[in-house]
Amino acid sequence: MCINKLVVWILVAVSMVGVLAIPTVLSSVNRDVKTVVIDPGHGGLDSGVSSENGVKESDVVLLIARVLGEYLESGGFNVVLTRKNQSALIGGRFVKKTDMERRVEIIKKASPQLVISIHLNSFSDKRRKGMQVFFGGDNSRDFALLTQDILNQQFNLPDAGRNFSILKADKYILNESPCPAVIIECGFLSNNEDERNLLDDTYRHRLAESIYQSILLWSFGEGA
Ligand SMILES: [Zn+2]
Repeated sequence: MCINKLVVWILVAVSMVGVLAIPTVLSSVNRDVKTVVIDPGHGGLDSGVSSENGVKESDVVLLIARVLGEYLESGGFNVVLTRKNQSALIGGRFVKKTDMERRVEIIKKASPQLVISIHLNSFSDKRRKGMQVFFGGDNSRDFALLTQDILNQQFNLPDAGRNFSILKADKYILNESPCPAVIIECGFLSNNEDERNLLDDTYRHRLAESIYQSILLWSFGEGA
């Protein structure tokens, strides 16, 4: 990919966002991200969390992952999805364990520079809404912070009236990824408004574009 062209694109994107500061080290640090693994959580028998209306996490995260993949491919990145359809990765007695191991196998085989695992949340208090980023190792902290900042500015503050903070999590996929990796909880299926938004194609495109912006900014120097 032509870096100059990309930097211009980023500046345009940042100016469209408006509220983001233009990174001062934009062109001096290049993390050389070539391959991104997108991991749509759950699948098959494991549908993840569900809404009162029966909307399944596994279905919605796959839609978000596909759109994010399209943005990344249009930007010249290699994209690997850990699953491309609704079926489980691997059956067997310990479905969840083998499923997670298979995802990590796919990640390691792809030799990515970044792993984005997409999930949805659920909470007993149905008023809880918004997006939150989880990270494992210290090498993922900068990207998690950047992504959370963008999601706070573009979604959480205007839609939920609050910011979320990144959280360190002890998760297999984060611990085993050979590169920076985050889990993005893209909203609460227990909240009616989040559910309605997540079922809207335009909203999912906005969300995927925001995550794509954070990948571009991080790739070309934002963060320590
Ligand atoms: Zn999940």
